[in-house]
Amino acid sequence: MGKVIAVANQKGGVGKTTTCVNLAASLAATRRKVLVIDLDPQGNATMGSGVDKYQTPTTAYELLIDEKPIHDVVIKETSGKYDLIAANGDVTAAEIKLMECFAREVRLRNALAPVRDYYDFIFIDCPPSLNMLTVNAMSAADSVLVPMQCEYYALEGITALLDTIGKLASVVNPGLEIEGILRTMYDPRNRLANDVSDQLKGHFGDKVYRTVIPRNVRLAEAPSFGAPAMYYEKSSAGAKAYLALAGEMLRRSEQKFESTEAE
Ligand code: ADP
Ligand code: MG
Repeated sequence: MGKVIAVANQKGGVGKTTTCVNLAASLAATRRKVLVIDLDPQGNATMGSGVDKYQTPTTAYELLIDEKPIHDVVIKETSGKYDLIAANGDVTAAEIKLMECFAREVRLRNALAPVRDYYDFIFIDCPPSLNMLTVNAMSAADSVLVPMQCEYYALEGITALLDTIGKLASVVNPGLEIEGILRTMYDPRNRLANDVSDQLKGHFGDKVYRTVIPRNVRLAEAPSFGAPAMYYEKSSAGAKAYLALAGEMLRRSEQKFESTEAE
């Protein structure tokens, strides 16, 4: 059965979308079947997957509000070789309309049920706020991946964030796990970044991915090319880092599988 991972952090600009798109492409390159769900009305994951948000015939709106079958909403084989559910401004309307809907917290979870077995990984790119869209992502997900920058107050921010996720999960999805904490836009020459990184590892241990995503201009340029970095400049440090992260994730899940087998 596939894994549904919400990529979330209430803070904007921490690398959520970049992580969704590049990690999805890296896993798709290892022949995993991957779906990305863009839940941010800004539609950055949509554009970064080579889909024009102004031209897309369907978005998460049709899935969440019109309850269209997921097969009619998915855009197959985007530039990153994964499937996509797009977002644009309509998703803001969806957020508002959700408030009046029956079972408003679990719309996404219900909508995903028919494809949970088909995909190996489903990534949900969350908006930078804790609204009903994020609640839907949290209730649909098996786990949460939190990208963060190692800057001043980062530890406080992440503790508060995990606390909020925990409280939300206790209401809508008690089984929700922390998939991992990812250090993004990392500059190893920055002493503060190193200090924060050490604190983070001290505090959250194995939950912090060993793979670090460096600050890399190719990652920032790739969306304007409409593709993940590995299809823009394969040899870039950014593309390589996300491939390494995909490898780490796969190894982790295999180890977890083996340890539950042994029980
Ligand atoms: P979020 O989705 O959390 O708002 P984004 O993934 O959109 O964050 O990243 C914010 C900005 O930083 C974007 O312009 C993106 O291209 C850029 N960016 C993200 N990760 C990196 C990185 N590792 N190196 C350089 N630029 C990055
Ligand atoms: Mg984003």
